[in-house]
Amino acid sequence: MAALVTEHVTDITHWNDRLFSFRTTRSDAFRFRNGHFVMLGVEVDGKPLLRAYSIASANHDEHLEFFSIKVQDGPLTSRLQHLKIDDPVWVSKKPVGTLVTDDLNPGKRLILLSTGTGLAPFLSITRDPEVYERFDEVVLVHGVRQKNDLAYYDYFTQHLPNDEYMGELIKAQLTYLPTVTREPFERQGRITDLMTDGTLALDPASDRIMLCGSQSMLHDVSAALDGLGFVASPSQGTAGDYVIERAFVEQ
Ligand SMILES: Cc1cc2nc3c(=O)[nH]c(=O)nc-3n(C[C@H](O)[C@H](O)[C@H](O)COP(=O)(O)OP(=O)(O)OC[C@H]3O[C@@H](n4cnc5c(N)ncnc54)[C@H](O)[C@@H]3O)c2cc1C
Repeated sequence: MAALVTEHVTDITHWNDRLFSFRTTRSDAFRFRNGHFVMLGVEVDGKPLLRAYSIASANHDEHLEFFSIKVQDGPLTSRLQHLKIDDPVWVSKKPVGTLVTDDLNPGKRLILLSTGTGLAPFLSITRDPEVYERFDEVVLVHGVRQKNDLAYYDYFTQHLPNDEYMGELIKAQLTYLPTVTREPFERQGRITDLMTDGTLALDPASDRIMLCGSQSMLHDVSAALDGLGFVASPSQGTAGDYVIERAFVEQ
């Protein structure tokens, strides 16, 4: 059992009946790489009920933020969606994960490909100033089924470009590409469609890619990247042209 620390909820946003975000306090001793995940949960019948959660806040933030699904019969999220301000949550003390920029070969453009709550680690990575030093351009794709699943749309289109500290970097270097599959929207189609219709013309010589999303998205996009000549990071600590969160794959 991972060593746990108790944090308290400070803020909650319900995006719709399937998605919500919440913030908690952050212990001074808690350190992580942007892109890492923790085990997070609540007490049920005197025991911790934990699930893996990507950290959505950046490692320089004073709080922790999480972006969560609501699975109506899910053991954890059927409870977690009813969190209230000041409620305790357990967070593992040792963040881990393979979705970190350290394991990417040098490149010019960083492409972040996400579906659903797979956006969470990229909320952290897009606020990492080192990322904008290392790459000339950063492109964030967020694929969802319906428009109202585009949590953080206003954040990326309005708030972040005007952020006091990050705004100038964001305006100059970050492109946000939301895409919707099941209703009309300014951009439609799955990520693999964007890769073939010219919206996302990817080049293994200069593009580096991070993937986070459903099993089927990881499978399909990895296969498409392999076909274009991109080489996956084979394991933590060994660089490649793209990285995925291996914990999702090995479930
Ligand atoms: C490395 C890693 C990082 C993760 N990060 C996040 C995160 O940041 N936010 C998050 O909401 N979940 C994340 N998950 C999934 C999370 O661990 C739980 O599965 C989720 O919170 C649901 O828990 P549950 O106990 O309610 O239901 P579970 O019994 O865990 O899941 C029930 C079913 O719901 C579906 N499901 C679970 N999670 C999701 C999801 N996120 N999106 C769509 N369908 C899902 C699956 O089909 C699953 O079989 C992550 C998983 C891994 C392995």
